[in-house]
Amino acid sequence: MSNPTLLAIDQGTTSSRAILFSQIGEVIDVRQKELQLYFPHKGWVEQRPEDIWSDTRNCCTQILNNMEQKPVAVGITNQRETTIVWDRKTGEPVYNAIVWQDRRTAEQCNTLKKQGHEQTIANKTGLLLDPYFSATKIAWILDNVPNARARADAGELAFGTVDCYLLWKLTNGEVHATDTTNASRTMLYNIVEQRWDEALLALFNIPYSLLPEVKDNIASFGVTDKHILGAEIPIGGMAGDQQAALIGQGCFKPGMVKSTYGTGCFALMNIGPVFKPSQHRLLTTVAYRVDGQITYAVEGSIFTAGAAIQWLRDGLGFFDDARESEALATSVSDSNEVYFVPAFTGLGAPYWCPDAKAMIMGLSRESTQAHIVRAALEAQAYQTLDLMGAMQADGGHIPDIIRADGGLVANKFMCQFLADMLGISIEVPKVTETTAWGAAALAGVQVGVFSGLEDIAKSWEADKCYKPQMKASKRDRLYAGWKKAVGMLTKEERGQ
Ligand code: ADP
Repeated sequence: MSNPTLLAIDQGTTSSRAILFSQIGEVIDVRQKELQLYFPHKGWVEQRPEDIWSDTRNCCTQILNNMEQKPVAVGITNQRETTIVWDRKTGEPVYNAIVWQDRRTAEQCNTLKKQGHEQTIANKTGLLLDPYFSATKIAWILDNVPNARARADAGELAFGTVDCYLLWKLTNGEVHATDTTNASRTMLYNIVEQRWDEALLALFNIPYSLLPEVKDNIASFGVTDKHILGAEIPIGGMAGDQQAALIGQGCFKPGMVKSTYGTGCFALMNIGPVFKPSQHRLLTTVAYRVDGQITYAVEGSIFTAGAAIQWLRDGLGFFDDARESEALATSVSDSNEVYFVPAFTGLGAPYWCPDAKAMIMGLSRESTQAHIVRAALEAQAYQTLDLMGAMQADGGHIPDIIRADGGLVANKFMCQFLADMLGISIEVPKVTETTAWGAAALAGVQVGVFSGLEDIAKSWEADKCYKPQMKASKRDRLYAGWKKAVGMLTKEERGQ
């Protein structure tokens, strides 16, 4: 076929999108719908699965209806860990989607930690005991939705992360499957033995019957139902958003790092085929599995990155558009010792304080909106530096280059400050839609548009490169201020 196209579904925390790519990664068409988040109680974050599905479907059909020659394959990428439980017969969700940021199960996680389960869990899943992952969210639904546990025990319910729910819907209930990267974020999947772990299922009190089949990232996931999307297109690739970005950034060699700055910030380093749990509170996770061959990544997950900018926009009304943050930040020469620790949904790696709250420190009568905005952008670099420190302490070598992406990299000030603080070059790729491209490219391999991962790597090209310019002494002084601010939060949480 001449000029085959690939369709990516990119279901993120803040929006659902469909993106049509050419075989060299050019965006031909894109449709997007913002997704509503609900905060029914303090620390709770939910979405309506019906919105996730109908928005995704509409985005896809808007693209497909305009096309004569349909895409040759569909790839799916998604916000990870977000948990949906639905009825196998009707497809009706039994509860809202519990979003990855939700902290309602923090107490249960603390209890399990006190009982000494954390190390076993880390050894099997690479994860830490935190409400972030799906396991305690699933248990919460089963224990709190009337009749849900009985229905689950009777085999009537299905669990899935968003990828799995969308696949079910796209195939009209034919396929209940996920991929290894999404499975690796549930805290129920043993990433060493690559299977659902019965001891963990027992620990979290979750019946096996809820779980989907786990496939490679490049696989035959099914075919879109023609009554659903108006065409039968093979679904050939799937990966959680951060792993899809790693793939879209072509980080296939051990030691290569990508860092994505969207709602949260996620830095992943490819560590090759050998599982190694972190000793410094990072996560070990599946990077990808192709032809049954697994590659692991070490991951630093920061819960709040762009969400802090959103809060300045929506919560404080500092500006109408996130893009205005750059002009405000550069209207002052520094943050005037203002530090913004954006722990709105707790602190993730490497601190893992689920109950920490956000803090702005160092305000004086001279402080202005500009200083606070600048501090929010600078926080992205400090948080990344915290992660790099933990990666180094784990014995990982520090890369010379980080490949960065996500909505925030449009902010040149943020990128330059990042390069300055890390002392590492920051490369931003030409294909800025790396997450969606990763999913599309995986599907492309499945249908033969690409011959394999190396072929995907060849499609990567740098657009901008930010080189470090700041003096080490200044960097150290700024970072010491951050450490002091973040230290206050972690100490408070420990009750010191
Ligand atoms: P996600 O995939 O997690 O939904 P995106 O990668 O689309 O997120 O990034 C969106 C985030 O980036 C939002 O939180 C927004 O506030 C932030 N953002 C987008 N553009 C800019 C900008 N120019 N400067 C600062 N923040 C930005």
